Amino acid sequence: AFEYAPAPESRAVVDIKPSYGLFIDGDFVDGQGQSFKTINPATEEVLSEVAEASESDVDTAVRAARRAYTRVWSRMSGAERGKYLFRIARIMQERAREIAVLESIDNGKPIKEARDFDVPTAAAHFFYYAGWADKLKYSGFGDTPLGVAGQVIPWNFPLLMLAWKIAPALACGNTVVLKPAETTPLTALLFAEICQQADLPPGVVNIVTGAGATGHALVSHDDVDKVAFTGSTDVGRAIAKAVAGSRKKVTLELGGKAANIVFDDAPIDQAVEGIVGGIFFNQGHVCCAGSRLLVQESVAEEVMDRLKRRMSTLRMGDPLDKNTDIGAINSGEQLKRIRELAGVGDAEGAERWEVACDLPTKGFWFPPTLFTGVSQAHRIAREEIFGPVLSVLTFRTPAEAVEKANNTPYGLSAGVWTDKGSRILSIANQLRAGVVWANTFNKFDPTSPFGGYKESGYGREGGRHGLEGYLKGTDA
Ligand code: NAD
Repeated sequence: AFEYAPAPESRAVVDIKPSYGLFIDGDFVDGQGQSFKTINPATEEVLSEVAEASESDVDTAVRAARRAYTRVWSRMSGAERGKYLFRIARIMQERAREIAVLESIDNGKPIKEARDFDVPTAAAHFFYYAGWADKLKYSGFGDTPLGVAGQVIPWNFPLLMLAWKIAPALACGNTVVLKPAETTPLTALLFAEICQQADLPPGVVNIVTGAGATGHALVSHDDVDKVAFTGSTDVGRAIAKAVAGSRKKVTLELGGKAANIVFDDAPIDQAVEGIVGGIFFNQGHVCCAGSRLLVQESVAEEVMDRLKRRMSTLRMGDPLDKNTDIGAINSGEQLKRIRELAGVGDAEGAERWEVACDLPTKGFWFPPTLFTGVSQAHRIAREEIFGPVLSVLTFRTPAEAVEKANNTPYGLSAGVWTDKGSRILSIANQLRAGVVWANTFNKFDPTSPFGGYKESGYGREGGRHGLEGYLKGTDA
């Protein structure tokens, strides 16, 4: 174990205030409720004290959003709304370094991922939906906004999930109240500043920080027309119950347990990179992570050898170091969950292999780990671990691969690695997953819809499909 000194020059580009209020009606205001601390998961240092929005704060925010909707935003032409979205996207680009560093500090993710993925992809969503704002008329799916959207997001991609939610909502003419996750509120609050900088009319975007109770108050508020949630399947179920029977339109993006299927004719080096990126990107805190490797028996030994060698080169440590591949686990609670499920893997007789790492003394860390000898009945083959843990299963025939891949309550994503184009099409068509990647994994683009089957939720975000959830008269 060792102690590291977080890279000071990176830390210097962000100005984290000792405390934050709620962003309502264009201003930062004190909340009526308590406050909570957000910490740096790599050091356990307290970063800031953030307001916890009470039910009455949520009500104030929803009222502000309603006013802005009625008086300003829904009356504005699409072209004009688009200009605001373009402006937000450009400011995100201008402040990219600052946002990336803040995201890395608050979440624990490696700076190179925040810098090269989270921030540019979030900005790309604003650019993409800015382009849609004036093209909804005659687009075939209506141009009437719903009203006020209540949006609740998780901690794994705080800024990107915010962009997935806010950009299409605003493009369609809705106003929003968004609740970021309690462990990662800071980039949403920085985004609030960006809205001010872009002169976005007050009340169009409101940010209410807090935990589950704040989220519950928001989704159950009578004057919310649309609920958009990304998070765990359990909370998704609770939200579906809370809004049952209401007029609200709902989209749910939930958990996953994706199969990454490697056939014996796959380009093995490329597949190994895809397996590593598939499960260790963002410490495995990814809903569509390739957390189940299904490898054809004839190449299993070779794949496992190469995989272990590649895993041994992953650099774990200070998230602000540009060379870091694996950062910190987002919270002590999440670390506990990962440890527990990995422990279940041991108890059920799977074989654990992990990269020998020198872990920092402070903060939350879990080494890149894989389990072999996993059977379909094992809990680590069925339950979402949401950490850097890969469960390896083998198969003999394509039919067996499909059967095993689909044998999960989830259906968010999957990967297929093979040299045969015809096999890619045939397997992809048989998989019950919203996204199937072929000879690649974890690729995202604002033009592509994303969303699940089965217990991974319903509705699609991204692409033109992402607009449907924010317009009247169509079903997402
Ligand atoms: P979580 O469900 O615990 O929390 C998500 C959000 O919901 C948080 O903001 C939380 O405060 C809020 N919340 C909690 N209880 C609530 C309630 N009763 N009513 C309203 N809001 C409530 O999930 P998490 O731990 O933050 O994130 C991890 C989960 O998110 C994983 O299961 C992952 O697969 C999923 N996820 C899915 C996608 C997707 O697109 N499908 C993307 C990212 C993450």
